[in-house]
Amino acid sequence: MIKVNEDYLKLPGSYLFSTIAKKVAAFSEANPDKKIIRLGIGDVTQPLCPTVIKALHDAVDEMADAGTFKGYAPDLGYAFLRDTISEKVYKPLGADIASDEIFVSDGAKSDCGNIQEIFAKDVKVAVCDPVYPVYVDTNVMAGRAGSYDPATELWSDVVYMPCTADNGFAPEFPSEVPDIIYLCFPNNPTGATITKAQLQEWVDYAARNRAVIIYDAAYEAYISEPDVPHSIYECEGARECAIEIRSFSKNAGFTGLRLGYTVIPKDLKGENGESLHALWARRHGTKFNGAPYIVQKAGEAVYSEEGQRETREQIAYYMNNAKVIYEGLKAAGYTVSGGVNAPYIWLKTPDNMSSWDFFDYLLEKANVVGTPGSGFGPSGEGYFRLTAFGSYENTVQAIERIKSL
Ligand SMILES: *Cc1c(COP(=O)(O)O)cnc(C)c1O
Repeated sequence: MIKVNEDYLKLPGSYLFSTIAKKVAAFSEANPDKKIIRLGIGDVTQPLCPTVIKALHDAVDEMADAGTFKGYAPDLGYAFLRDTISEKVYKPLGADIASDEIFVSDGAKSDCGNIQEIFAKDVKVAVCDPVYPVYVDTNVMAGRAGSYDPATELWSDVVYMPCTADNGFAPEFPSEVPDIIYLCFPNNPTGATITKAQLQEWVDYAARNRAVIIYDAAYEAYISEPDVPHSIYECEGARECAIEIRSFSKNAGFTGLRLGYTVIPKDLKGENGESLHALWARRHGTKFNGAPYIVQKAGEAVYSEEGQRETREQIAYYMNNAKVIYEGLKAAGYTVSGGVNAPYIWLKTPDNMSSWDFFDYLLEKANVVGTPGSGFGPSGEGYFRLTAFGSYENTVQAIERIKSL
């Protein structure tokens, strides 16, 4: 029999969202007359905006003509999209990111998962707790996480930075200095943000300790407050110590289309002066054959004037839902955070209920599905995540039900 990758066998249990799906299916089968409202998974529900749809149609037509047909895309992305991102995303922020420092991909999840491949196997990884599970699990798969302790739900070789009400859900510098620091703001799952001054402190910390920050800015488009940075490259010195990962999923509804990108500045170097940019270009060129032309044209259209207006309307729709959830829960006596610069509301479970007990309670009593905070890490225990990605009508109804419990 074939030997399998033992690092994969170390991953505990089943994926959080499969466990939730099973519980919901069982409840639904036992209670066929109940209307279940799902505010659990972080997926968009609004259709793609008209400008994106038009760009898709036009690009399909180009594929039908021998003169404009496109085969393999350049594996680092088409220049039209990389130039647009450099001009429309980074230039207005005062961030000096050249188009050839942008690597177009089929989404941020794969980039978050794959980027660790260019680092040594024995580098120390730090993550926030609670956290987007992809950062930890991909490092487990790479054999970098050590052993798992089911009692604490922690990996022996991972540095955890708890984010709780005590620190305003913002990580503090860890006592053990890491080599790679994953940061995600606005945050999934807590919906928290940090200020530009706080992010600058992290950049300074990384520079001082020769660490690399992997900054996941998937929710950048949801920022509504002025003091919250849209990109890590707004901070001085970030070109020497930070990689930024972005996605078209949450800002323009591309979760099913698939498009994202990663920025690796050319100033970012390994300990012997190696170019991380060159390593990622090598990796990308070897293991990835480019995002579809049609989808990259759709991505370009997001940054047209109409595309920006239409996608901002969608974000405003979700953020209105976020407000309904936030205000409604607050009025019902819950302790809530997030929801102001992110489509996620993070609530403290009442009466010190565990996250999973509250999940069952909400499903049974209100027929509302959310996500148990403990599924994102041990410091998420006692918390619960609701998302603003439902319809307005369902969101209002879900909150009415929770209020009347
Ligand atoms: C949704 C999400 C992404 C985006 O993933 P895609 O693969 O681009 O759809 C990345 N990071 C976080 C934290 C997310 O929640």
